[in-house]
Amino acid sequence: MICILCPRGCRLIVDPRPEAPSQLEDQNRNHNHNQNIQAIQVKGNQCPKGIDYARQEVLDPRRTLTTTLAIRGTRQRLPVRTQGEIPLNTLEQAMTILRTVQADPPIHMGQIIVEDLLGTGIPVVASDNWDYDEIMQGTKLP
Ligand code: SF4
Repeated sequence: MICILCPRGCRLIVDPRPEAPSQLEDQNRNHNHNQNIQAIQVKGNQCPKGIDYARQEVLDPRRTLTTTLAIRGTRQRLPVRTQGEIPLNTLEQAMTILRTVQADPPIHMGQIIVEDLLGTGIPVVASDNWDYDEIMQGTKLP
């Protein structure tokens, strides 16, 4: 995999993922998670960040989700993003939920639109301002 944390773009070589934990091991998931992290060997990194990046990508890949939401009473869309990374395998479920959300103007950049996306503790915030009056007065383009 390529490390995307800086422009060097180191080509990382990652040892195969450790075996999946057994049912018994699941009861001690945190302990095993730490053991699994240490078991993943990484080569090709030019700095220590690459090791953490590769291990995270193998065990628990996450992404920042960016999309747009409906704005109540308009046909416009509001650009939004998660205020942190959520598990990669929850992106589809997150999009299903966000398709049902309507943001209520006026909206300011950084405003929390969804408090806790999928119980991750991570909110969805506005990436732009949106004020119906401003648009009607022509001071902002829709
Ligand atoms: S391993 Fe370090 S130097 Fe290489 S791309 Fe990642 S952050 Fe940059």
